[in-house]
Amino acid sequence: MAQKIDSLIELVDHRQGELINLLEKLIRFKTPAPPARNTEEAQQFISSFLKQMGFEVDKWDIYPGDPNVVGVLKGAESSDYQSLIINGHIDVAEVHESEPWEKDPFTPVVKDGVIIGRGASDMKGGLAGALFAIKLLHEAGIQLPGDLTFQSVIGEEVGEAGTLACCQRGYKADFALVVDSSDLHIQGQGGVITGWITLKSTQTYHDATRKRMIHAGGKLFGASTIEKMTKIIQGLQDLERHWSVMKSYPGYDPGTNTINPAVIEGGRHAAFIADECRLWITVHFYPNETHEEVAKEIEDHIRKVAEGDIWLRANPPMFEWGGTSMIEERGEIFPSLEVDPNHKAVKTLMHCHETTLKHEAIVDVSPTVTDGGWFGAAGIPAAIYGPGDLGNAHSVNEQLSINQLLDYTKVILRFIYEWSHTNKNIGE
Ligand SMILES: [Zn+2]
Repeated sequence: MAQKIDSLIELVDHRQGELINLLEKLIRFKTPAPPARNTEEAQQFISSFLKQMGFEVDKWDIYPGDPNVVGVLKGAESSDYQSLIINGHIDVAEVHESEPWEKDPFTPVVKDGVIIGRGASDMKGGLAGALFAIKLLHEAGIQLPGDLTFQSVIGEEVGEAGTLACCQRGYKADFALVVDSSDLHIQGQGGVITGWITLKSTQTYHDATRKRMIHAGGKLFGASTIEKMTKIIQGLQDLERHWSVMKSYPGYDPGTNTINPAVIEGGRHAAFIADECRLWITVHFYPNETHEEVAKEIEDHIRKVAEGDIWLRANPPMFEWGGTSMIEERGEIFPSLEVDPNHKAVKTLMHCHETTLKHEAIVDVSPTVTDGGWFGAAGIPAAIYGPGDLGNAHSVNEQLSINQLLDYTKVILRFIYEWSHTNKNIGE
């Protein structure tokens, strides 16, 4: 068995031209989000690729023009052997016309050992390598004992949670690998939740009434919601400072858990006292926290801040958390993901990395967020492991080292094979 997989792994170098072609093909599909709603063709391609490899394919619209694709390859001895989900997003970061790319971002360029193009690093490289590994296994006539599921999802770049939709549709496995850019580190992640804090006056007042609500003898109990929002912002800064002092997580700089007042909207026009003000915040939290917990901490604290102000006590702030899309709802959630370094699959992946690449596997945390958290939230053990680095993700002339793509493809090939050949009933 070991010999068979070793000779397959050798094929990755020999057939690198095909692998590079596959990645070029994926880059040519223009799938930036925003604007999104443009992945139909790319997903159709992945769907037929998987069908050719013997997968049963499920393709359904999350939004019109943005379908998810999930392929399942039933294992020969499903009930006794470990199952795996490989997950990646087909959408790529947006491109602005003013960006000084060498060439069109969707016309891949191969030179000096790298592939340049939007999505090379984040994360069509990860998708291409995994698909190519599946192709090599298929062509060798290897029948995997455990189930293998391949998910190509939409909307990751705009918080649209194509992966959540897969979990809700009932897809699960003993382990999920998110092949997003991690520079071949095995990673967990912190989480992100966005929220809106709204202050609203029950009355609307003319600008000329201001003197009556702020000066002695005016006898008008009112306030500008814009001015009151400054107290809320101050309260958020106090809490953020407290978090940075009191909370920490290995692998993160202290104070990574920030509360960003990202957008503020308020007031009608200059002839009115601002009767409504809304603050959009972005909250980063650690892998061992949940978005529900941090949202509750913020609400509890801000409600107490409001209790200390006479007008806010009578007009308490309102909170709306998360959302299913930055485009449709102006809100998103990325749950956190903790990686257990002693989980059988993580140990197998470390072993595959070390055997194949002859250097130590690194288990750490991602400085950003991926869809990995949705598996954690669904109770599916998971990790992030993919080619490409964050310096390249979303950047001008985004590129991926061909050597790293080859390394990744070899490791994922071995991992699919070994994990699928791991008997569920035999312990460590
Ligand atoms: Zn990504």
